[in-house]
Amino acid sequence: MHDALLRAYGPQHWWPAKTPFEVILGAYLTQNTAWKAVERSLANLRAAGALTVEGLRKIPLAKLRRLIQPSGFYARKAPALKAFVRMLDEEFGGSLEKLAAMPTPELRKRLLDLPGVGPETADAILLYALGHAVPVADEYLRRVAERHGLLENAPGRARISYDELADLTRRAFAGDAKENHDSLYNEFHALTVAVGKAHCGRTAHCENCPLAGDLKSSF
Ligand code: SF4
Repeated sequence: MHDALLRAYGPQHWWPAKTPFEVILGAYLTQNTAWKAVERSLANLRAAGALTVEGLRKIPLAKLRRLIQPSGFYARKAPALKAFVRMLDEEFGGSLEKLAAMPTPELRKRLLDLPGVGPETADAILLYALGHAVPVADEYLRRVAERHGLLENAPGRARISYDELADLTRRAFAGDAKENHDSLYNEFHALTVAVGKAHCGRTAHCENCPLAGDLKSSF
């Protein structure tokens, strides 16, 4: 799937951000929200000088809420962003490099303990902002995997868990050189989002989809 999507769409150059901290902000803001709306919030934050750790630390909560209003759920996302910066300051001297230096399992757990951080947000931050080779799963991947018969839901269980879904990617790339996992996970997640947006939304539009050949061969 990775190879077929890469042939069709080319490298996606993710994550669309200039700095690791912008990636982190984007990962929070994109929860339950289209990226276009996130871009409006990021533009507001940029104009207010709040796209840096220092800027976000200084900005009052009420103003932060207002600036990120375009991407929705601002009453929850604003304090969650403040909690991230507080954790960074109190435990890592305000340094993203020190945070990133933690071993992956401990770091993932620390992120998951923060308010407003679920597994998808934690993994996006780990992979795209902090340089840890972890796969990211999302609803696009779930749809593709379900429609291609790659998920074996146990009887009586409607959905497999996030971690099982992410593990599907981990196992798919297990035969590749370890030093390439980072870039493979990076590209594959971006490519599944691309195919999800173009073809595999709530309704599947399989005609001309780069993965249509795989769909036929799986039945
Ligand atoms: S649109 Fe069809 S072929 Fe494309 S990924 Fe979805 S199910 Fe597969």
